[in-house]
Amino acid sequence: MKKPQSKNKEESIWSDGFFAQTVNPNDKDKMRTFHMKHDEEMNFNCSICKAKISAHNKDWHNGMCDNCFNKEFFPED
Ligand SMILES: [Zn+2]
Repeated sequence: MKKPQSKNKEESIWSDGFFAQTVNPNDKDKMRTFHMKHDEEMNFNCSICKAKISAHNKDWHNGMCDNCFNKEFFPED
């Protein structure tokens, strides 16, 4: 007899559709950078002040550095 659910946890999260509600399937690539640190792959530039930003900021902070992102979304600070 075979166990039907012997896959690893990560895969079952995907197949259960846990992320499907919030993340488009085409964004699986984007999910890669979600787990990255803010100083990993600093290959991009802030769309506002041109400071070096990480792949994570490019994908998840509207292409802005932390400073500009905070100004944009939390102008009170
Ligand atoms: Zn900036």
